Amino acid sequence: PKPIVAIVGRPNVGKSTLFNRLTGKRIAIVEDTPGITRDRLYAEGEWNGRNYTLIDTGGISMDEDDPMQAQVRIQAEIAMEEADVILMLCDASQGITPNDIELADELRGVVDVPLFVVVNKSDNPNRDQDAMEFYSLGLGEIYPVSAISSRGVGDLLDEVVASF
Ligand code: GDP
Ligand code: MG
Repeated sequence: PKPIVAIVGRPNVGKSTLFNRLTGKRIAIVEDTPGITRDRLYAEGEWNGRNYTLIDTGGISMDEDDPMQAQVRIQAEIAMEEADVILMLCDASQGITPNDIELADELRGVVDVPLFVVVNKSDNPNRDQDAMEFYSLGLGEIYPVSAISSRGVGDLLDEVVASF
């Protein structure tokens, strides 16, 4: 069986954009409105000859009356149950938010699998500097990327497939 890589993160950080980038498809719907991904999405990815299955957890439990804490917990649970590798996606343009901290706290309990803190929207070197604050989540190495331009994505994937 192929390793399963789960993308988690609060709404609007770019999970679906990264999912589409990594799978070379346009399966996940990218929307400026948070919470638009309605279903859990699976697709196949490949890097340096290594195949994996990618999950976009973003559509899980996006009911309006579902509090963000519940959504974050559910994402973390899915990742715990299914993932061999977890990508926690954050947003360099927004910095650390309370929901990032909440999700990080949930994921801390997960970690018998490799966890990568991926700081998306690092579109340029200034954003790389902004991304540094995510070290304070205390989850180890951070990976600044731009899902839109692919900047940094190759370096991330090198490390992800090395962790399989
Ligand atoms: P999701 O809710 O986490 O799935 O986020 P989406 O993939 O739907 O993206 C939310 C918004 O962020 C959209 O407007 C995307 O175009 C934008 N976005 C995604 N990745 C990047 C990026 O690398 N750089 C910038 N500047 N915007 C991005
Ligand atoms: Mg989405």
